[in-house]
Amino acid sequence: MSDGQGHDPASLAASTRNLLQQQLIAARTRLDRQVDQLMRMNRLSNLLLASVDASSIADAFVEAIIDVLDVPVAAVWIACEPCREAGRTFACHGEGIDADAWSRAMPLLAEAIGRDRVAPLPPQVVASLPGPELSQAIAALVIGRDGAVIGAVLASSTMAMAGMRVPAGDESRQMLAILAEKLGAHLGNLADRDVIEQHLVQLRQSEERLERVLRGTNDGWWDWDIRAGTTFVSPRWLSMLSGQAASGRTIDGFWFDRVHPDDAIDFHAALDRAFAGGDDAIERELRLRCDDGTFLPVLVRGLISRDDDGHAARFSGTMLDLSERKRYESHIHQLAFFDALTELPNRRLLDDRLHQALLTRGRVEQTTAVLLIDLDRFKRLNDTHGHAAGDQLLRAVARRLRDLVRPYDTVARLGGDEFVVLLEHLSGKFDEARQTAESVAAKIVDALGKPYELDVGTVHHSVSIGVALTCDAGPGAMDVLRAADVALYAAKESGRNQVRVFRPEMQQRVDRRAALEARLRKEFADGRLGLHYQPIVDASGGLASAEALVRWHAGAGESIGPSEFIPVAEDSGFIHAIGTWGLGQACVQAKAWLPHAPVGFRIAVNLSGPEFMHPEFPDRVLAALEASGVPGTALRLEITEATVVTELGFAARRMHRLRDHGVEFSLDDFGTGYSSLTYLRRLPVSEVKIDRSYVRRMITDPHDEAIVRAILAMSAALGLRVVAEGVETAAQHQRLLEAGCTGFQGWLFGRPAAPPAVPDALLGGA
Ligand code: C2E
Ligand code: MG
Ligand code: MG
Repeated sequence: MSDGQGHDPASLAASTRNLLQQQLIAARTRLDRQVDQLMRMNRLSNLLLASVDASSIADAFVEAIIDVLDVPVAAVWIACEPCREAGRTFACHGEGIDADAWSRAMPLLAEAIGRDRVAPLPPQVVASLPGPELSQAIAALVIGRDGAVIGAVLASSTMAMAGMRVPAGDESRQMLAILAEKLGAHLGNLADRDVIEQHLVQLRQSEERLERVLRGTNDGWWDWDIRAGTTFVSPRWLSMLSGQAASGRTIDGFWFDRVHPDDAIDFHAALDRAFAGGDDAIERELRLRCDDGTFLPVLVRGLISRDDDGHAARFSGTMLDLSERKRYESHIHQLAFFDALTELPNRRLLDDRLHQALLTRGRVEQTTAVLLIDLDRFKRLNDTHGHAAGDQLLRAVARRLRDLVRPYDTVARLGGDEFVVLLEHLSGKFDEARQTAESVAAKIVDALGKPYELDVGTVHHSVSIGVALTCDAGPGAMDVLRAADVALYAAKESGRNQVRVFRPEMQQRVDRRAALEARLRKEFADGRLGLHYQPIVDASGGLASAEALVRWHAGAGESIGPSEFIPVAEDSGFIHAIGTWGLGQACVQAKAWLPHAPVGFRIAVNLSGPEFMHPEFPDRVLAALEASGVPGTALRLEITEATVVTELGFAARRMHRLRDHGVEFSLDDFGTGYSSLTYLRRLPVSEVKIDRSYVRRMITDPHDEAIVRAILAMSAALGLRVVAEGVETAAQHQRLLEAGCTGFQGWLFGRPAAPPAVPDALLGGA
């Protein structure tokens, strides 16, 4: 059959079928190629996506490029930002590449990209390719067999481009563009991952840094996630409370259960306030329970973090171990408020307690008593046995005092040998309070008077106590102490080992003495003190010696006797100045008199207890002798039993030392003190002076006469001379002569007088 145009339907059908077949084949070929391309693409992109490090990315990219381009390739030159290695050659076919290829390729690259459908790169970006502007970028130059650049591909996390110089099919270019896009996205992902990793590293570093700093500052730390109900505690936090090395861990809840009950209320209240929207920062000193049950003082500094709604979300902070600081503080406190030797409160703490007690005065019906305690003759123990013995005694006294009083009474040491007992909460009625204070004071006198076993041996010490009650002193702490001091003074004056309660008259006496002392110092400096001399005669009435007696020619013709001002000088220590001066004066006088004096003539000088016991005393005597140029045989020193009573051995030693230089000793006022045979036997004295009270009474009182005779007999037996003092009448003289006395002193023979030119002139009537 034909259609009239020469086409028969059969051939038409055949040609149509042919055409269709050809089209079908072409379509299938295209489809096959597309499928093939897609598969290659898929494989390549999988290859790319599997690559994570710079060099495997580069390798995969090179492979993809070669695969996509259907042209002979000598080398693919890669510049890769992640590996910061420009000019690295991959998949190099054939010989090496000219080292300048990259720089020569740059304009080509720009050109290739510029011509492409992809938006052109700004020139400055191209200039610095691959530079910091493209944070993650990879660029490839495809080099042909002749060494010429035939293509350029740039992939970056922000853009993807492909440019071909030599004609490669549109498909190739498209595929490269897709590859570059995929690679760009991949690089972007990697970059993100890098950024995250970088952040993680930074975070880890900063955590480590914080941990190091906290360790350096001795801080532990915690982080309470309030919503999660857990708390992370750091290793140091745990080790502070467990005493062992530990690693940080998360605990349930918060560490409230460790807070000391006494601190918990305040801490909870502070947290509640903060949670309710108050101050975010909390700083507290707390005690936290350790694993062993003890409490550790810590400084807690925490900060509340809030969520977007302002609710507390976390409470985190640091904890500083304060135990060292607390120890240090308590040491400082100990140093500041306690006496180092006895560990008793010191003056400062006493003042404070006294102050507190005075504050309650008027509010409550109570009285506080201050007992000021002074060890009698403590200085002497120190001087003779050394400070170690003194310290030992003070510690023993402190112990006895503490054992004696009630726990809420204060025992303090003021310094030296002065202690104070503060008796609080005594009755508001003065008489009752005074009685209680007196009875406690009496107990103290008794307890402290018992012997002490020291390293240097057994010693006895009496104490004197002055008592003052807050209700009858002035308003201040100082007033009460001063009142107690005045009472103490009165106690000492009335013979030591006594208790005296303050009375206002005592103050007047003290004031008078203080005025007297001030005047004595001044007038001594003005040269108003001088020595008078009284003769001492032998059995035949001839001059034997002379006693130097100090005289104060006070202004306005007033006469103040040594019995009045010597004790004042002794108390203040001024006696040393007077004594040294007196010794010097007496030696100078001896020097003047010796050529005119009978054989064996001496000047007798009186010594006070403190003078004799002074560590430098023997040297002072020898210095006075040397300065005046008189021998020791011209000097006699008069001491009393009271002077040497506590330290017999020590006194004997220094007396012997001076005796070796010819100095003689006599025991003054014998009969008034202990009148003990021991003194006479153990001390190197040559003479005993019978006190004038016996001489006066012996005429009328047979007992006194018997005592005088006993002293004479005893002295004769021991080979000692005797001088009777205060012989005023011939009858007394006669009676003493009959009793066998050979030395006499008294108005009958001569009154104390200013030194005449020759000693014989001292005798009355001469
Ligand atoms: P003392 O050592 O017993 O001195 C004798 C005292 O008796 C002197 O008193 C003297 O004036 C007084 N006296 C002498 N003969 C008679 C008399 O016949 N009848 C009466 N009623 N009294 C007589 P004075 O000078 O007032 O001295 C008193 C005490 O003061 C002395 O007693 C002595 O212990 C002390 N003393 C005097 N001068 C010094 C001194 O330079 N240094 C020291 N440490 N004490 C001194
Ligand atoms: Mg005398
Ligand atoms: Mg005397």
